[in-house]
Amino acid sequence: MTALATMMEVPLTVELVLDRAQRWMKDVEVVSRRPDRRLHRTTYGVIAVRARRLARALVGAGIRPGDRVATLMWNHAEHLEAYFGIPLAGGVTHTLNLRLHPDEISYIATDARDRLVIVDDVLLPLFDKVVAAGATFERVIVVGSAGAPEGYEGYEAFLDSAPDVGLPTIAESDPLGLCYTSGTTGKPKGVLYSHRSTILHTLVEALPDSLDLSRSDTLLPVVPMFHVNAWGLPFAAAMVGAKLVFPGPYLDPPSVLELLESERVTVAAGVPTIWLGIREALDAAPAKWKLQPGLRMIVGGSAAPEQMIRDFDRLGMQLIHAWGMTETSPIGLVARVPPHLEGTDEALCYRLRAKQGVPPPLVDVCVRNDDGDVPADDRTSGELMVRGPWIASAYVGGHSPDRWTSDGWFRTGDVARVDEHGFVQLTDRVADLIKSGGEWIASQELENALMGHPAVREAAVIGVPHAKWSERPLAAVVLKPGATATAEDLRAHIAARFPKFWLPDEIVFVDAIPRTSAGKFKKTELRETYRGHYSAS
Ligand code: ADP
Repeated sequence: MTALATMMEVPLTVELVLDRAQRWMKDVEVVSRRPDRRLHRTTYGVIAVRARRLARALVGAGIRPGDRVATLMWNHAEHLEAYFGIPLAGGVTHTLNLRLHPDEISYIATDARDRLVIVDDVLLPLFDKVVAAGATFERVIVVGSAGAPEGYEGYEAFLDSAPDVGLPTIAESDPLGLCYTSGTTGKPKGVLYSHRSTILHTLVEALPDSLDLSRSDTLLPVVPMFHVNAWGLPFAAAMVGAKLVFPGPYLDPPSVLELLESERVTVAAGVPTIWLGIREALDAAPAKWKLQPGLRMIVGGSAAPEQMIRDFDRLGMQLIHAWGMTETSPIGLVARVPPHLEGTDEALCYRLRAKQGVPPPLVDVCVRNDDGDVPADDRTSGELMVRGPWIASAYVGGHSPDRWTSDGWFRTGDVARVDEHGFVQLTDRVADLIKSGGEWIASQELENALMGHPAVREAAVIGVPHAKWSERPLAAVVLKPGATATAEDLRAHIAARFPKFWLPDEIVFVDAIPRTSAGKFKKTELRETYRGHYSAS
């Protein structure tokens, strides 16, 4: 006879998070910067009441379990209400990425079969283009302090219309949120998170050796709520009861710095470009902002250059480097120096912090090539594979089933190697590897080395078609304001670290590197620009 365990079967849903925030954290503040720059202050207690009202209004509007409700919003309190209110109605929050082209947003909203949309009034000009591109929604609910413009339904009126209905019972395996991959290397594909995957991700994300979030924190997610649920941080803040500070539409360095100072933020999160801008603003006026000592900044989405980690340490701030993908909810690796190495070899510690790190509890990774799992020799590379309870097991609609191995791993498309400490280091994306004379060159490794030169602000390396070698690397480099360096200086700086054939044939100096909606280098565009560059060779 099988013995049954004797514990309660409580479904792991975000309702548990909201209930707790409402009962035990009700006075904790949630601050949002409005489009008129004013700071709006509310609390988890108020947000919980309004989220439930939103849920009832959605049920009244005909939303049924599994229906998609889109959001087209900046980071602010109403977006947090949607994060909880839509799933409580049994719906799925589909966060639309406002940085995409309207045609692409329209494609994604149509593909997802979004029924309703909640949109910021300041984004209506964009929204109108999305509709002109073909997307249709049954109802459009507009958030804004000025009330809804003529012809639109206001968010507050929608909440007021909430009927006195019961909310559906939610199972932990029910879907809660939908996010599309940003499509850096292919057409966007939908990833559907469940209540259970979100709760487990949230719990582990907050652990001390993960992102170390607690009730003592004030968290500012600069990373947009439409980018992998702002890395799950709004859920984590609500779960632990951390104060939340939302930047609204203002992501420029002075605005972010102002909020970091005035709200006494202890932890912030964003892509490397954000921190690059912050570092430059701090360098330009070091005494201007009084930030919390030991301010932590979570960085991911693309590699954090080692130099950046060092620079912030000097400023008394700590960058915490993590890796993830839309498909991984996103936390898959975190780079924290293990205690037995802390305070030993400084150069080693910085190298480790600039790697992508080790998996948190419940996530498993491996790096495989044609010979099987690679040895932990810091040299042999393969593709990073990942599995765990918050890793996607399929795309919506079953697209690209070849991204999963027959033995249950998700192929990340990232090329990596592993060192003796178990730290995973990404060297490239499979799609960006450069093939020269039958040998592979890892573009990200070259970029990281170039960005270690004191004059370099940013560097992107791409493969350019070449008559003899099939492809040769080319580096596009942006220098720091006022700094000078020649192509020869930069080649000399990296020469000792790489085989000679890895060195870019050309280093071109540019004003800016094109970026994707998520702030990553847009290498497809760079490759297009320089396509014929070596054709005379
Ligand atoms: P997309 O795949 O369209 O770029 P994602 O936002 O899901 O959209 O990005 C995931 C990818 O971003 C990863 O596969 C990896 O290549 C890159 N990435 C994320 N975090 C890091 C990091 N810390 N260092 C280097 N690359 C990263």
